[in-house]
Amino acid sequence: MGFFDDLSKKASETYRNTAEKTNKLTREMKLKSLINDDKGKIEKLYAEIGKKVYEKHIREENIDIKSELIEECSKIDAFAKEIEDMNTEMRALKGLRLCTKCGAEIPLSARFCPKCGAQQEEINPVETVNNSDVPVEAKEVVEQANNEVATETVAEVNTDANVETNNENNNQ
Ligand SMILES: [Zn+2]
Repeated sequence: MGFFDDLSKKASETYRNTAEKTNKLTREMKLKSLINDDKGKIEKLYAEIGKKVYEKHIREENIDIKSELIEECSKIDAFAKEIEDMNTEMRALKGLRLCTKCGAEIPLSARFCPKCGAQQEEINPVETVNNSDVPVEAKEVVEQANNEVATETVAEVNTDANVETNNENNNQ
């Protein structure tokens, strides 16, 4: 009994490790695509700002950045923050973070930066991976992406499950 218990325990551990790796990769791919989306949105905002400034220039008017471009600038700030947060999460998935002093990529567990020697804040890696810190707007985007991915995955999984069920039936 003990032998088989160990075997199945090992098998489930292997399965769990593989599943964790797959989850990390999936999350990483999702984050990469979300970051690209945000970068695209920022580019569009830059273009809008440029157009506004140019139109003012044509009409020989002065542009007041504070009042006339504040909406675009705030949106860019928000997207940039989202990108920063997602980059932090991506680094955490790889067990890395940035040195608070010199910005070098260092292991999450490092107490001191190997490059500049600065002491690092102690952080809980689990908390970093948790996406509760992602702003609401980003969360909605994530959920949207999840739904899109989920629809595709479900279709694939269903097909696989059917094949497996059929095989089992044949074996019996
Ligand atoms: Zn450093």
